[in-house]
Amino acid sequence: MTSTVTRDASRLATAQAILFDLDGVLTPTVEVHMRAWERLFSGYLAEHGAAPYTVDDYYLHIDGKPRVDGVRSMLASRGLELPLGTPDDAPGGPTAWGLGNLKNGEFAAELAEHGIAPYPGSLHFLTAALDAGYEVAVVSSSRNAVAVLEAAGIRDRFEVIVDGEVAAAEHLPGKPAPDTYQRAAELLGLSPEECVVVEDAHSGVQAGRDGDFGLVVGVDRGVGAQELLDSGADIVVTDLDELTPALR
Ligand SMILES: [Mg+2]
Repeated sequence: MTSTVTRDASRLATAQAILFDLDGVLTPTVEVHMRAWERLFSGYLAEHGAAPYTVDDYYLHIDGKPRVDGVRSMLASRGLELPLGTPDDAPGGPTAWGLGNLKNGEFAAELAEHGIAPYPGSLHFLTAALDAGYEVAVVSSSRNAVAVLEAAGIRDRFEVIVDGEVAAAEHLPGKPAPDTYQRAAELLGLSPEECVVVEDAHSGVQAGRDGDFGLVVGVDRGVGAQELLDSGADIVVTDLDELTPALR
């Protein structure tokens, strides 16, 4: 008899490890980013006599773009322009990169001032997974991943973190390439097949699908369940706690 692999939540019970994306899976990091951009631009636009920054500006000009591109399109929306500069420009310097680097400082200030709480359902699922003996890792494109994990009070739960810093140091291509997830599996001493990927973004579920992982769980924080399934998720939930009963 030919065996049929059922790619559903039952695969969680036989997996050895769970590899979590961070932003949007464990923590609502977008809120911190949005407040950091607001801090950056409300002062800057006022100084330059431009129309005030609004939340719509985030979605229209910044969301989903590399930082420096977000700076440039935000400025362009107000008829402002800065030379591009280079990634090592001093924060606040008179270039798009300088302004973008200042945004990183605003992000750190926001985290320090207001902290960040993990999604309660994700925290419950993570705790239950650790109690059940699963290995866990964080796989994030962010260079702020460790700071976010610390602010959320869950840094010590992860021995393996493959973030933007690790990817840069090891020359790993970012999502949607599967390499960062595969590296996390390798650091845990496991094959991709033994690991579950948990993601909220198209690029992340694509990475899970293309990396031959045991299961790809999509968490729908607004992308849309069908969209995540189309990109490669095996199952989609709106809250990770829905899967707690499927842990072994
Ligand atoms: Mg994410």
